[in-house]
Amino acid sequence: MPSILRLPRVSHCRPPRSTAMRFMFKALVIEKDDAGYRATVKPVDESALPLVEGGVSVDIAFSTVNYKDGLAITGKSPVVRKFPLHAGIDFAGTVSQSDDPRFRPGDAVLLNGFGVGETHSGGLAQKARVKADWLLPLPAGLSPRQAMAIGTAGYTAMLCVLALEKHGVTPASGEVLVTGASGGVGSVAIALLSRLGFRVVASTGRMAEAEFLKGLGAAEVMAREELSAPGKPLAKERWAGVVDSVGSHTLANACAGVRYGGAVAACGLAQGMDFPGSVAPFILRGITLFGIDSVMAPMARRSEAWARLARDLDLAKLDALTTETSLEGALAAGADILTGRVRGRLVVDVNR
Ligand code: NDP
Repeated sequence: MPSILRLPRVSHCRPPRSTAMRFMFKALVIEKDDAGYRATVKPVDESALPLVEGGVSVDIAFSTVNYKDGLAITGKSPVVRKFPLHAGIDFAGTVSQSDDPRFRPGDAVLLNGFGVGETHSGGLAQKARVKADWLLPLPAGLSPRQAMAIGTAGYTAMLCVLALEKHGVTPASGEVLVTGASGGVGSVAIALLSRLGFRVVASTGRMAEAEFLKGLGAAEVMAREELSAPGKPLAKERWAGVVDSVGSHTLANACAGVRYGGAVAACGLAQGMDFPGSVAPFILRGITLFGIDSVMAPMARRSEAWARLARDLDLAKLDALTTETSLEGALAAGADILTGRVRGRLVVDVNR
């Protein structure tokens, strides 16, 4: 049962809300003050939620821990830019109150990005209040838990796959490389691409996870070291397409090995933000590098990605790559994901 407490409304120092009661609920709160930067799970009052004109209140069922959430929880990068703030760039739940005609109480919804968990209180909490423009109806066929098992990482993997498809990369074009394979983006990308008929080669620093990656659909698993050191401007033409969540030398080497006319979808920086490559593969092999952003992606692209996830992702494989934790567990997981110790996706039951 959600541990939401009902209290009589006593304060009117902020504009009254349309409900006659106010709530205490649990949130993973990021604070920064004279005492320093800290993340704590604690009870907060409904008045801690942002006042959003024409907004929608959501009872959150599940959230996730993405790489960016790890940066926010640990404070390793300045992801959070407003304090105090509830962490969490994703959530799925049920509308409890709406000032927007597009959503009604009881509607199942999900949210990814739009600065939520960065500048606006987010999903690692039992409640959120957000702009209606940021919400998507929960796709038919996915439960709130499954949607958050996918989360921003999985939705970004789908954006990468869509970019390759739109470029014309098909299973007949040749092999597709997925880097950061055991991570959230990588594991969902493998499951998606293999289901679509591609021969997937998974690059990982965790060879002990080779069987896990093959279970998701990787035809071959290669050691991260084959791509992560400085390489040549051009390598043997191998990849018809690449999904890269790693950046740095890995991205440069991936580009160097793309076949004539192929494409790379780059979305991440787990190895580094640098791109120490050369123009050779672009001007001699006509390859294309797609930059993938999930945070501000337009609604039409999000809807397309989520419809495809609901259609093309094998839910048994999604289950196999998902582990579950609580809000308290998300605190430790924030540090774990930054050191590559989270396998696949981590879903957070905020009411556990
Ligand atoms: P995860 O931590 O789950 O996965 C990242 C994976 O990268 C790790 O599991 C590991 O895989 C690999 N890795 C980690 N460190 C290194 C390293 N030093 N060198 C090479 N590989 C490494 O994170 P996510 O999948 O959630 O996110 C991946 C990246 O994508 C992050 O940088 C994140 O910020 C970015 N991202 C970007 C989005 C966008 O909108 N552009 C949206 C979502 C994520 P293995 O052990 O198999 O090698």
